[in-house]
Amino acid sequence: MGLEPQFSYWERSVFIDNADVIIIGSGLVGLSAALHLKKRGPDLKILVLERGFLPSGASTKNAGFACFGTVSEQLAALDQSSEEEVIKLINYKWRGLQRLRQNLGDSAIDYHQHGGYELFMDDESDRADECIEQIPYLNKLLVHAIREQGIYKVANDKITGFGFDKVSRMIYNPFEGQLNTGKMMRALLNKVYDAGILVLNSCAVSAINRQCDGVHLTTSQGNFKAGRVILATNAFANQLFPDLNVIPGRGQVLVTKPIPGLKLQGTYHFDKGYYYFRNIDGRVLFGGGRNLDFETEATWEFGHTEKVKGKLIAYLNKVILPGQHIEIDYWWSGIMGFGDDITPIVKEVEPNIFCAVRCNGMGVAMGSLVGEEVAELAIQAL
Ligand SMILES: Cc1cc2nc3c(=O)[nH]c(=O)nc-3n(C[C@H](O)[C@H](O)[C@H](O)COP(=O)(O)OP(=O)(O)OC[C@H]3O[C@@H](n4cnc5c(N)ncnc54)[C@H](O)[C@@H]3O)c2cc1C
Repeated sequence: MGLEPQFSYWERSVFIDNADVIIIGSGLVGLSAALHLKKRGPDLKILVLERGFLPSGASTKNAGFACFGTVSEQLAALDQSSEEEVIKLINYKWRGLQRLRQNLGDSAIDYHQHGGYELFMDDESDRADECIEQIPYLNKLLVHAIREQGIYKVANDKITGFGFDKVSRMIYNPFEGQLNTGKMMRALLNKVYDAGILVLNSCAVSAINRQCDGVHLTTSQGNFKAGRVILATNAFANQLFPDLNVIPGRGQVLVTKPIPGLKLQGTYHFDKGYYYFRNIDGRVLFGGGRNLDFETEATWEFGHTEKVKGKLIAYLNKVILPGQHIEIDYWWSGIMGFGDDITPIVKEVEPNIFCAVRCNGMGVAMGSLVGEEVAELAIQAL
């Protein structure tokens, strides 16, 4: 007996062979692409291959912020890109969030628009003043992106109510929301199953080869073949295509045990967006700190470091929930895909092989549209 698994005639002919399109990766982007393909071509046979037992990158590990950016993030983007490009990106995230909500429904994903806040610490008052000064300019600019007035407002009067310490200024954005990441992915998977799309887990793709009869995939479960292949492996994209400009970035996250009388409600960012926290089911989810050690965190390995864990715990105890007895219930990490450019890569990498990767840590917002875009590219080539 060789190494190739011995599939039955039934397994080969019904589950494995003759896929029109194989999607590699069952994160938000891969599943959104699968759904859109099925909508555009109801007769297409679509197969999703996923390396993990569950999706194992960012889509089931993220913070569930339905956000389009803080004042600091918009100003940093404007330093790098033109106003037009920044407006386009914000509009893309905004439309992506509307599409996600439309596709899955607010109650299925537990969407709530409690607003988003940017915090500035006592020792950041100069930067806070700079950001606050730019609010009128940004509010005018962002009307072109989301057609809403007065997006950012100073909200220093709310700092005490939330119970924070060492926070001197706060900016509020009422148009941001939060969702339950697990419910989002369950709802999406249910839609994918209902559409008749097959998702096979524990199937890692190790090589992709184009031949005259189609695209051949070598996987941990044997060989597969399809007319078209979509790579939706985000942070792991250059394990299969080393020329793609995608750099992994690990995000470490904790969730506390339930906190009686928790005052927080909303999504919160500080230190230029490198730290983020929110309420979830009477608990606090808190993550970030990648900027403490960019080199170590540019990894494909899940896990934690004492440096980041220590900093998260210190902020939790001293700034976010000062003077309270806090116990941590969960620790986990997820891997994001970053790059030199703040936009995702959606393109044909080789004939009949397409990619939709690098959501730059903003895939909850962008992922639905990124998936649709790559599906359109693949449809046009069919
Ligand atoms: C800690 C953290 C917090 C975040 N918070 C937010 C947030 O609040 N808001 C927001 O908008 N975004 C957030 N993000 C980013 C967001 O989660 C991602 O941008 C988004 O999930 C990317 O989706 P994806 O489908 O492209 O990638 P992924 O979800 O990473 O999916 C890629 C899939 O490909 C699979 N795969 C990889 N290689 C192979 C292979 N060789 N064979 C088969 N399968 C393979 C992986 O197992 C994985 O399931 C966060 C991310 C992290 C990690």
